[in-house]
Amino acid sequence: MALNLFVNIKLPSGKTYTQPTGLFINNEFVKSIKGYVIESINPATEEPICSVYGAEEEDVDLAVKAARAAFKGPNGWKKTSGADRADLLYKLSTLVNENRDVLASIEAMDSGKPKTQNSLGDIDEIISVLKYFSGHADGAQSGKTIETGPDKLAYTLHEPYGVCGQIIPWNYPLGMAGWKIGPALAAGNCIILKSAEQTPLSILYLAKLVKEAGFPPGVVNILSGLGKTAGAALAAHSDVDKIAFTGSTATGKIIMKLAANNLKAITLECGGKSPLFVFNDCDFEQSIKWAHFGIMCNMGQICSATSRIYVQEETYEKFIAAFKAECDNSSIMGDPFDDNVIHGPQVSKLQQQRILDYIKKGKAEGARLVCGGKAISPGYYVQPTIFADVTEDMTIMKEEIFGPVVCIAKFKDEEDCVNLGNDSEYGLAAAIFSSDIGRSHRLARDLDAGSVWINSDNDCDIRVPFGGYKVSGIGRELGDYGMGIYTQAKAVHVNLGCKL
Ligand code: NAD
Repeated sequence: MALNLFVNIKLPSGKTYTQPTGLFINNEFVKSIKGYVIESINPATEEPICSVYGAEEEDVDLAVKAARAAFKGPNGWKKTSGADRADLLYKLSTLVNENRDVLASIEAMDSGKPKTQNSLGDIDEIISVLKYFSGHADGAQSGKTIETGPDKLAYTLHEPYGVCGQIIPWNYPLGMAGWKIGPALAAGNCIILKSAEQTPLSILYLAKLVKEAGFPPGVVNILSGLGKTAGAALAAHSDVDKIAFTGSTATGKIIMKLAANNLKAITLECGGKSPLFVFNDCDFEQSIKWAHFGIMCNMGQICSATSRIYVQEETYEKFIAAFKAECDNSSIMGDPFDDNVIHGPQVSKLQQQRILDYIKKGKAEGARLVCGGKAISPGYYVQPTIFADVTEDMTIMKEEIFGPVVCIAKFKDEEDCVNLGNDSEYGLAAAIFSSDIGRSHRLARDLDAGSVWINSDNDCDIRVPFGGYKVSGIGRELGDYGMGIYTQAKAVHVNLGCKL
């Protein structure tokens, strides 16, 4: 049976809202050509919320054609003035703000993120990101002019790539959408954004606001769909100029291969296994709070989660006891719509099972289980879990778990930190807790990581680049770097005298 393109959904708060279910192409919600649909599940109740249309290859092709048509031509998006692009992005941020509560509720229901403690902050994030990049739209395409000789000059244009494919994960659905949509549109690109199959709902609601803001048809296209069909078709499409991806390293590698077909520009934000170091001389109380936040926030589903904690020998047992107490007191688990809850369910049954499998492996390989380790139902909950005495060869120390599971081990000195910290194929982030500022900066220099936090953890700012070393990614999002990945430089050489 065909789905309605809009359905009324009752939120756990009792309020009802209208949820679009179609593919958003050319500013219209449409059915998928072959009628393919995917079902979205509420991870706190395990019950279906609704189904949405899922894109397949032919739908992706339609969206790419819409984006290409919107980009080119005398009135195309490429030719729109920076001021007009800024205006539309700003309007979109205003509309997101006006719909803040419903968007946070959809996010909480679809992904399990606690509404008050997480989702509302995610909506504030997309509002600021859209506003921030609206401020970049005006200067996005201008470069430098230099004199290259007595009668010569050269200037540089920063031109948009054209049609950009954007593939995002489920852990920050609207947050990640904002990081991708904002700079791409500010720079003058048209986009096709594919949401994660687990969390399609908030982004379809955002699509409605895109139309309301007044973006021309085809500039923003939003597709729900599976990775191996819709995502792969987008990454491989020969009329897509750039692909920006956030997700696992395994998928990043596949996307790189698919994108090679027409040598697309590529940005990858992939996984991590980030270390945190606790020195004897640090502010102990604060290190516990930050370390807890760094791994347990968003139920551990953060690419830059500090999931490996190394503690200096003398402080080791004291740290483990205090960290356990922090989990007992602060990881309030429950209904994502309860204002006090900070620990909701994992996003899906599959994700819950993956985490439980890692916990089983950790025990089997001889790590000391300090607390947690169990699933709680109904809902896809996993208790905050601490493993101590974890060695470098254990699977849980090496692989990204993407759940509320932390590995703790000892270190001796600064040299040890560099060796342990860099003993990973990942290089997304690292945190250092010490009152010795010289040592902290030496470590910041020597650790292979795209972000380093000194006496803090998982700080993020829209003006500051974010991305990974090693298999954690290619390129940087946010700030000026985030604009740079959505334009290509064209050099124009001018010979004023015409002479050779
Ligand atoms: P995933 O790689 O399975 O999926 C991410 C996205 O890629 C989804 O939209 C999915 O549909 C799509 N996809 C999957 N297979 C594909 C394929 N063959 N071709 C094209 N697209 C495909 O990742 P996940 O498990 O959903 O998300 C968790 C991962 O994302 C973690 O590894 C985490 O570290 C990473 N992540 C990284 C960042 C970052 O900024 N570095 C941020 C958030 C999440």
